[in-house]
Amino acid sequence: MIELVQGDITKVEQIDAIVNAANSSLLGGGGVDGAIHKAAGEELLFECRLLGGCKTGQAKITKAYKLPCKRIIHTVGPVWNGGSHNEDQLLADCYINSLKLAAENQIRTIAFPSISTGIYSFPVARAAKIAVHTVDRFLKDHPECFDRVLWVLFDKNTKEAYQTEVDLIEKNLDLADSVTESRQTDIQMCACFFQSVIEQDRSAVVICNLEHEIIYMNPSAIENYRKWGGRELLGQSLLNCHNQQSRDKIEKVIEWFKTSKEHNMVYTFYNQKQNKDVYMVALRDQDRLIGYYEKHEYRNAETMKFYDLW
Ligand code: ADP
Repeated sequence: MIELVQGDITKVEQIDAIVNAANSSLLGGGGVDGAIHKAAGEELLFECRLLGGCKTGQAKITKAYKLPCKRIIHTVGPVWNGGSHNEDQLLADCYINSLKLAAENQIRTIAFPSISTGIYSFPVARAAKIAVHTVDRFLKDHPECFDRVLWVLFDKNTKEAYQTEVDLIEKNLDLADSVTESRQTDIQMCACFFQSVIEQDRSAVVICNLEHEIIYMNPSAIENYRKWGGRELLGQSLLNCHNQQSRDKIEKVIEWFKTSKEHNMVYTFYNQKQNKDVYMVALRDQDRLIGYYEKHEYRNAETMKFYDLW
């Protein structure tokens, strides 16, 4: 149901509503906002003046005037400010609130631009991940609401970033289809247990998928890798955090994991400064390799107090 095209959002046909990446005044601006106001004509501005602006992450609706669609949903994306000012959540809110408002107005087909990645400077890969996964989640939670959700992406680079995320979702769908419902519940339950174990681990735990994308860091890992960006490393490639020699080694280990389901752990490094061993561990769904994680094991003797509660 999610589709991507490269092009100009003011030109899309056969769509009920388009979304405008507006600013909080709702009185027009540059980028896609300027293009939409220009194509819709000045009556749009008259209607927008009555709306009293819009807060970041929220959405408002107007008629579409000279545009080929019926309605315009105006949402205000976050300005990128380093990533620790709630930008991710606010961007997700833009998509959720736009879809909610669309559904309330019986809109069944909707086109989005890449919100916030122009003048507002949100990094494209990160925005694409949030955008596609947020919309996908919404569509799964509200399967009756929409017939078509389209992204109209202005340039090739942006389209490729969104395509990567759509491909990921399709891959996961294939996986989900092949797993029975009860097994999914088992997996979810196990995931809760394992997550709480991993979160308490005082050693860093970094989990990657087979594309080397960092999909999980426990609190110790976030702390340990703070000077490289901490939490910001999520979604990035582990390979980018290593030199060429280490990258080659990582690739080699993955190949070795793939050759047998008995190949599950490799000692990779002794960190003298922190007196710890580093291993790579295979992650498997049954026998199938689905990723790997980096396990750190300190050689220092345990120094915690016994029974901290009394
Ligand atoms: P923001 O202020 O939210 O960053 P911009 O309009 O500056 O919004 O940019 C958002 C995205 O929209 C960018 O990828 C930009 O290239 C793109 N864009 C600009 N004009 C159009 C258009 N007419 N149709 C579709 N996308 C557009």
